[in-house]
Amino acid sequence: MKSDNDLDSHRVKPEENRVQYVIDEGRRRLLKNLALGMALMPIAGAPLTAAAADAPLVAADDPTGKALKYVSDASKSVDSKPGSTCANCKLYQGAAGAAQGGCLLFPGKSVKSTGWCISWAAQT
Ligand code: SF4
Repeated sequence: MKSDNDLDSHRVKPEENRVQYVIDEGRRRLLKNLALGMALMPIAGAPLTAAAADAPLVAADDPTGKALKYVSDASKSVDSKPGSTCANCKLYQGAAGAAQGGCLLFPGKSVKSTGWCISWAAQT
């Protein structure tokens, strides 16, 4: 026959129940967020390109644009190499043939496909 002390040692204490509940709840929330993240992953990238094309163009007085000597027409820049434009830059995010698109250096804005800046890098 078991004593009361033996039974007590196997009984789950209320604070252990609470800790287990918190762990289970956290695990449930994590799995739910992971599932949501996985479900949204395929569409997460698409709006980025589309949204960048709709984003306002880099303004002439844009501080980053000035720092990078951005011009909307590469032929007007004395620094650009002939033939180098945003359209053939590694950092350009616009669709092929589009008049403008995003650039990794100008988040939330778009650049002209005919543009250029000193960070131009050949596509590989
Ligand atoms: Fe254009 Fe490339 Fe400069 Fe962006 S980094 S503004 S795409 S030349």
